[in-house]
Amino acid sequence: MTSKIHILEAEIANKIAAGEVVQRPASAVKELVENALDAGAKKISVIVKDAGKTLIQVVDDGEGMSPDDALLAFQRHATSKISAAQDLEAISTLGFRGEALASIAAVSQVELRTRQAANDLGTLIRIEGNELKEQAPIAAEPGTNITIKNLFYNTPGRRNFLKTRTTELKNISDVVTRMAIAYPELGWLYVSDDEQLLDLKPKNAEGRLADLFGERHFRSLLKLRDVSDYITLEGFIGKPDFARKSRSEQYLFINRRPIVSRALNHAVFQAYEHLMVKGAFPFYALNLTIDPKHIDVNVHPSKQEVKFENESAIYRFMLTAVRKTLGEHDLVPSVTFSPGGDATGPDAHLRFLQNERMQTNLGDLLPPMQPASAPEIDLGRVFRNVERRIGDDVLQKDGEATFPTDLNTPRPPAPERIMQHKPIGSGTEQLSVQDGKPIWQVQNKYILSQIRTGLLIVDQHVAHERILYEKALANFENSLPTTQQLLFPQTVQLSASDYSLAKELMPHLERLGFDLKPFGKNTVVIEGIPADVRAGSEARILQDVLDEYRNNEHAQHIDARDNIAKSFACKAAIKAGDKLNTTEMLILIDQLFATQMPYVCPHGRPIVVKISVDELDRRFGRT
Ligand code: ADP
Ligand code: MG
Repeated sequence: MTSKIHILEAEIANKIAAGEVVQRPASAVKELVENALDAGAKKISVIVKDAGKTLIQVVDDGEGMSPDDALLAFQRHATSKISAAQDLEAISTLGFRGEALASIAAVSQVELRTRQAANDLGTLIRIEGNELKEQAPIAAEPGTNITIKNLFYNTPGRRNFLKTRTTELKNISDVVTRMAIAYPELGWLYVSDDEQLLDLKPKNAEGRLADLFGERHFRSLLKLRDVSDYITLEGFIGKPDFARKSRSEQYLFINRRPIVSRALNHAVFQAYEHLMVKGAFPFYALNLTIDPKHIDVNVHPSKQEVKFENESAIYRFMLTAVRKTLGEHDLVPSVTFSPGGDATGPDAHLRFLQNERMQTNLGDLLPPMQPASAPEIDLGRVFRNVERRIGDDVLQKDGEATFPTDLNTPRPPAPERIMQHKPIGSGTEQLSVQDGKPIWQVQNKYILSQIRTGLLIVDQHVAHERILYEKALANFENSLPTTQQLLFPQTVQLSASDYSLAKELMPHLERLGFDLKPFGKNTVVIEGIPADVRAGSEARILQDVLDEYRNNEHAQHIDARDNIAKSFACKAAIKAGDKLNTTEMLILIDQLFATQMPYVCPHGRPIVVKISVDELDRRFGRT
């Protein structure tokens, strides 16, 4: 009887293995770059054509290979990086499996030029589908220059499986970016279809991030470093305001190896809890240094997964380190402010307040408002709400209702939030007498008040922006907009491109509360405006919203609704310089702390600064 089992020929075996190591052009790039790094290169160039499908070339100035090694390198399990089984227990190089070159050579046409600095001549090797076509001494620069042509030319199944050019190129760019972040001390050149996409000079970690992401983005990063006896975590995290709509700008390295770890990702994400709106992801670039004997990278041929001896300890370490860094920077930044703020008088105009009234439960209960007489609000309640959001324990007095600390629990019903309905004269005075919680407006820009644990400072413009932004998003989602119909519709002349933009955005603008009629000849008639827009400024705000929408569209890829909500919030919000009376300030703070994300405005600026009593004590040398 003949045996039905036989050993596969090397050619087929290699093709099968290749599928695991080289799934797409980006994985070939990754393997070649890893080899260049392991060879001690100082400069690495990556050149691709047709998103790597027709050509991938990686050039390094590393140690090169001898003629014999150059040939051996293409054998399966040929490696210079480990030799004994125990070496697997503490891997310090990026490669170690001795599979990459063999796998790549099985599914492409390879040309290798390499020279060791000590030798006069280098070696050329040409291999096609694992078959040696040429081997010759040549003149070459020290280092290695490897060209992969027509990847998967002999595995049509795999070739057809490739995604669009854009996707494959994005994957390659991602590999190069990750490596360039992890190795800032090297020079990197990255060229696609003759277009130079990156030319990075050796820098320190900061300089590299600034070069890759631009100064502006870089300035929104917080430096992080935390050390335990067993791990060091180092790198940068984005301020909550620099949130991204996807996870694509999250760079995690272990011993400078780019890795994918759901658990550790989650640790970082968790640290941002309550600082991020839903669907947003923080930027980070973090490297974890750990003795390689405590981890195992030999989990998958692609070497992107790592097993840890003690994953939960690392998880906690990361969570704490990121939280600490955020805590140090976000809510308690050191601030200097000039003495002598001016308190608001009773003449403060009520424009935004009047509008807010229509939409809040407060509004329903307030008496009809006259400009100079504002209703009283239960200050104590407003501020307990603030304290609760800021994360302090709720102050409990006898006989008072306690507040749930869970942020998702609905707030107490509206009637409880109003104490008296009688109008008041000068707000500040009365309120401070009544509740011992004065509130001031400083420079017509910032609102200052005392909270139990210290001093609260709110930027009035961004606070209102956050409120309007969330309201706008809510309007898009479900609730119906509140429109104030204009007694005298306004005709606005727009530029041709603004006119077509306004027409395009009409459905969204309507959801915000605009009532617009295109009138032809680049003219729009405004018949109604959102409740938050002050009558008289409707034409300007419409124009501003369109401008801002355009700016955002160019600057970042955000979706139309989000863009319009942001643009509207920014332009319709009260401004720095607008005087507010006490009631207006209270309502503003009350509404702010009812938003999902009271700490950062939609553009990412901080809204609230808290200075703790401890901090004040420290500054005055009381500790
Ligand atoms: P591994 O990297 O796992 O050892 P590879 O198949 O990627 O396996 O490479 C095989 C060997 O070829 C490496 O161990 C190394 O000795 C040599 N090699 C590959 N690329 C380079 C390079 N760019 N410079 C110097 N040596 C290289
Ligand atoms: Mg390798």
